[in-house]
Amino acid sequence: MKNISIWLDELEKKSFKRLDKDINVDVLVVGGGITGISTAYHLSTGDLKVCLVEKNKLMEGVTSRTTGKLTYLQENIYSKLVNFHGKEKSKLYLESQKEAIKLVKGIIDSNKIDCNLDKVSSYVFDYDDIESVEEEIKLLNEFGVSLKLSNVFPNGEDINNAYFVEDTYVFHPIKYLSKLVDICSDRGINFYEDTKVISVDEDDGYYICKTDNNIIKAKYVVIAVHYPYFLFPFLMPFKSYLEKSYIEAFKVTKNYRFSAINITKPIISTRYYENNDDIYQLVLTNSHNYCFKNDEEKNFEELFNYNDQEAEYSWSNKDIMTNDLLPYIGRLNDSNVLIGTGYNTWGMTNGSLAGKIISDIILDRKNRYIDLFNPHRKLNLGSFLNFPVALFSSAYSFLKTKVSKNKEWYSERVRFEKRNGRDVGIYIDDDKQEHIVYNLCPHMKCSLIFNEIEKTWDCPCHGSRFDIDGKSIEGPSNYDITYSEE
Ligand SMILES: Cc1cc2nc3c(=O)[nH]c(=O)nc-3n(C[C@H](O)[C@H](O)[C@H](O)COP(=O)(O)OP(=O)(O)OC[C@H]3O[C@@H](n4cnc5c(N)ncnc54)[C@H](O)[C@@H]3O)c2cc1C
Repeated sequence: MKNISIWLDELEKKSFKRLDKDINVDVLVVGGGITGISTAYHLSTGDLKVCLVEKNKLMEGVTSRTTGKLTYLQENIYSKLVNFHGKEKSKLYLESQKEAIKLVKGIIDSNKIDCNLDKVSSYVFDYDDIESVEEEIKLLNEFGVSLKLSNVFPNGEDINNAYFVEDTYVFHPIKYLSKLVDICSDRGINFYEDTKVISVDEDDGYYICKTDNNIIKAKYVVIAVHYPYFLFPFLMPFKSYLEKSYIEAFKVTKNYRFSAINITKPIISTRYYENNDDIYQLVLTNSHNYCFKNDEEKNFEELFNYNDQEAEYSWSNKDIMTNDLLPYIGRLNDSNVLIGTGYNTWGMTNGSLAGKIISDIILDRKNRYIDLFNPHRKLNLGSFLNFPVALFSSAYSFLKTKVSKNKEWYSERVRFEKRNGRDVGIYIDDDKQEHIVYNLCPHMKCSLIFNEIEKTWDCPCHGSRFDIDGKSIEGPSNYDITYSEE
């Protein structure tokens, strides 16, 4: 079994060189996931000079580990949105998701992109919470969605009270984005990999953006980094928490061409994927608040217990859940810095939409969703109800790692010590080589835990990850934790 997402394993991606000189652009897009690449695509037809920089490799962040569904049936989100934002906004969110699907489909059709796009039915079901299922059905009917009801999935599995729609899709997200990168490159957009933006400072109407070695001067900066690496001014840790899930892909003999998701935790989600040689069923399960279940071996074990079949691939992924369930897309205060984040595990639609909204703002075009996703929207019931969850989750992890560093689940290959007066974590590899890192996350000073399955140092508070030698691979931390003897 491969411990990598099926999308990454299948595709040979082009690579791009690191930025090696200072440059001036109109728009700097930071981050090469679905948000950044969609933004670049929508800007590529205009006259603006645009470049996109990615700190690692393009399309290898959260986007590479999605299940790749393009659907507007997203658990029972519409009933929840009514509670937090009222009916009108809930309906507008529904329209935004439908429009996002149309947008992606339109891009795929007009550019003839081969990305295994398949029109499949989307099911929502739940074994226990029938009341919530019924509430969501009633609301969606009121919103004019033509729902169908069923007690059985197309593969013959019995379910209670499921509903489904037939105008939704699944696709290969990385094939889709790779083609967008090609199109953008042909239209003159430059992509740089292994180029990390460290700081963005305003200076006389421009932004001076420092990378590891160079400076990019830009009129607009799009922060499409998944979890914004800066704490101020946006205070993301107080507005969101992280949810982690585990996915496996196993071979099956028939493509039943549907996707499904339930509504109570732990989330169970599935879809099929067919390439030239094989058919796979993807199953996602064991979703949980990232701060509370850190034993990765156990977490993967729970995934494998879900069914008897031997998986070909397994991987994990995490996404940002916002307190009020809507993404944050748009301008930060009155500046020309824009963000797209907080997709609540629906970033194939919301990340695609973010690209359109952000480019419309930059190009001074109207977009009916600007207010809905405004990062500085007013606080509402959701913001208050979920604020304690956001705060408690990271505070709990913070304290837990301070109190008990040597977790019972580590093998003898992981040690924690003090060196030169500072806390370090040590991993001993197959050749008995020690890999030492500072055991403190540069973001908000949480202690780190070692993930023995994926061989990374992970921050249990806000999800930063570092390789065995301390190189930052996932934010919010933007800094490495490489140990030095001095
Ligand atoms: C288990 C799971 C399943 C999911 N399945 C679905 C699904 O079926 N359908 C759906 O709609 N959504 C799904 N999602 C959600 C979706 O995958 C994400 O919301 C989306 O991929 C996030 O994209 P992004 O562009 O914001 O982030 P990313 O893909 O992480 O891109 C951000 C990029 O920015 C780079 N970066 C970070 N800091 C810097 C810096 N300082 N300088 C330069 N570059 C930087 C990173 O390296 C990264 O490549 C799922 C999420 C999870 C957790």
